[in-house]
Amino acid sequence: MVQQTTAGRYDVLFEPVAIGPLTTRNRFYQVPHCNGMGYRDPSAQAAMRRVKAEGGWGVVCTEQVEIHPTSDIAPFIELRIWDDQDLPALARIVEAIHAGGSLAGIELAHNGLNAPNLYSREAPIGPAHLPVATFTADPVQARAMSKADIADLRRWHRNAVRRSIDTGYDIVYVYAGHALGGIHHFLSPRYNQRTDEYGGSARNRMRLLREILEETQEEVAGRGAVACRLTVDELLGPAGISRPDIEEVLGELGEHPDLWDFVMGSWEDDSNTSRFGPEGEQERYVAGLKELTSKPVVGVGRFTSPDLMVRQVRSGILDLIGAARPSIADPFLPNKIRAGQLERIRECIGCNLCVSGDFTMSPIRCTQNPSMGEEYRRGWHPEFIRPRESAKRILVVGAGPSGLEATRALGERGYEVTLVEATRDLGGRVAKESRLPGLAAWIRVLDHRQQAIDALPLVDVYRESPMTAADIAEFGFEHVAVATGAVWRRDGVARWHTQPVAVHDAAEVLTPDDLMAGMRPRGRRVVLFDDDHYYLGGVLAELLSTEGYDVHLVTPASTVSSWTVNTMEVAKIQRRVLEAGVTTWCNHTVTEVGADHVVTMNVFTDRCAPLAADSVVMVTARLPEESLLNELQASLGSTLASVRGIGDAWAPGTIAAAVWSGRRFAEEFDATLPASDEVPFRREVTRLSPTVYHPAFPHQ
Ligand code: ADP
Ligand code: SF4
Repeated sequence: MVQQTTAGRYDVLFEPVAIGPLTTRNRFYQVPHCNGMGYRDPSAQAAMRRVKAEGGWGVVCTEQVEIHPTSDIAPFIELRIWDDQDLPALARIVEAIHAGGSLAGIELAHNGLNAPNLYSREAPIGPAHLPVATFTADPVQARAMSKADIADLRRWHRNAVRRSIDTGYDIVYVYAGHALGGIHHFLSPRYNQRTDEYGGSARNRMRLLREILEETQEEVAGRGAVACRLTVDELLGPAGISRPDIEEVLGELGEHPDLWDFVMGSWEDDSNTSRFGPEGEQERYVAGLKELTSKPVVGVGRFTSPDLMVRQVRSGILDLIGAARPSIADPFLPNKIRAGQLERIRECIGCNLCVSGDFTMSPIRCTQNPSMGEEYRRGWHPEFIRPRESAKRILVVGAGPSGLEATRALGERGYEVTLVEATRDLGGRVAKESRLPGLAAWIRVLDHRQQAIDALPLVDVYRESPMTAADIAEFGFEHVAVATGAVWRRDGVARWHTQPVAVHDAAEVLTPDDLMAGMRPRGRRVVLFDDDHYYLGGVLAELLSTEGYDVHLVTPASTVSSWTVNTMEVAKIQRRVLEAGVTTWCNHTVTEVGADHVVTMNVFTDRCAPLAADSVVMVTARLPEESLLNELQASLGSTLASVRGIGDAWAPGTIAAAVWSGRRFAEEFDATLPASDEVPFRREVTRLSPTVYHPAFPHQ
């Protein structure tokens, strides 16, 4: 393995740092992050956090933990510490983090205005009478908190602190960040319209924070450390939390916690995707704040480059390198830097598919790290995979994300693998998509796997080698993974139309594959029909518009790229396409393609109208490239012993799904698989209460 000569260059990152009475072994700090597992999958979460601890993070934190039923953000699935019933799950997680050698942090949260309490049915509470500020705009209002409510909240927080410390957590958070923690709402003039001693001046708005920090310190009583996560700029100017506010907060409370965890704006701002912001974007908001406190400071920035980390530490911006996504993509990032194995870092691509786990209430998934969320369920590990169980040779056809990952993981297992790719370029769809506006970082999906494959002695890669079933028989391959990908449809079929759309013979219809291959519309007026709803429709509209085409994006959804609500990009995408000059036709479909126009239809009124178009781009559905798979399946039993379709060739999906599918193939090769009647992974099922309760017979 190539060891880069780092000769002490990154030593500063491995210095211990005191956090209150504790010391972290290095400067790598996994900040709290959601994962869609929460109270439903505690053992899965424990295994996931343990892997990060093993990977060298000095501190590993939970996600936000709701401290009370008035802080219930159902349907989202986070952890809870409502009472002692929640402690066994929290204990399992802290034990796992300690077993891996890290300090364990717990992010206690009262979500205030952000908690619709759909499960508990309690009235939400906040600084003012305002509708809840949830992502889903629930039809629920929060009640302005009375002094008695504030006293209750402080007591609930204290209870949660006591339970956390008793359960073994080392670092207890006071959460005033992201417009999610309720203390943020008190700090912010946007939400705090109180006229009592908790509202008005910055000193009054920080009163609740001060009280809770003091009480948390009192309750912890030196048995652990207290961290405060704080939004340092709400990006709203004086209408929200701004720099002067925060300088005042740090002037007053700078020494109150043992650690400051600085965040920028809302969660969407702080977890910006690579399409909308670079690594280290938070620097200008955080710079200078460390000078206002003697306590250590952690901050994030999608950090994957150790030189940038060193610069942030040496220039006095941060003491601790915070990471959520880089730790998801590569739980072993610290250990790899320490070992000088920089080329082995699996760099986050900044796509936020991980965030979609939280938004869809499903276990976290990651484009780069297919083992994320599968540590407990399937026993996958980001760095280790069990050795081969035979001397079988495997052919992988297609070097897109699924073929590359299957090849890498099989090669790591020690199998002899031949990877064949029809074109000159490896990477399949990521090679093509990473050339589109804003998606350059996606090439990391290829880069990471290519470097890993290059280091594997038993793996051969052949480019410009389109494979047929006859070739495979001739070469005598016995085990084949077909990773031939998928092609975009030209006929308009997707969600709205399940039958082909009527297209005039003289019309020009292009697909994303055509555009990515370099083809361009024949005239200036282009209608792009997006019935895919993920990122590509918006990206291609932006591309064509910036190239000078007059682009009309027609979509049956109510926003452009509507699924990106789950990656927190939807608002940024609307802004980007509108600023690029694209005309958007939301809530419209295309019913017919003429020679020089399309017919659009309003999806609510059915009203139709012509729209001039020299060309139409269909961003609709894809069809698997399955002809080779079908042929091979038909010839099973001759020289061919096994064949399996993986990735988009099996079922078109996300890049993450393709990578995962490649990993699954490698994991399952030579394994005895359960029958498909059985659940193929471990899961936890809610333990039943020992009593059956019926309201008519409450004492039964
Ligand atoms: P996935 O996302 O499932 O990995 P991609 O579409 O990204 O799929 O990649 C599929 C790759 O397979 C492409 O690079 C394509 O050129 C290649 N390919 C398709 N058919 C063949 C074939 N018959 N022989 C070799 N390579 C193929
Ligand atoms: Fe990074 Fe994407 Fe993985 Fe999230 S899903 S950690 S953004 S690569």
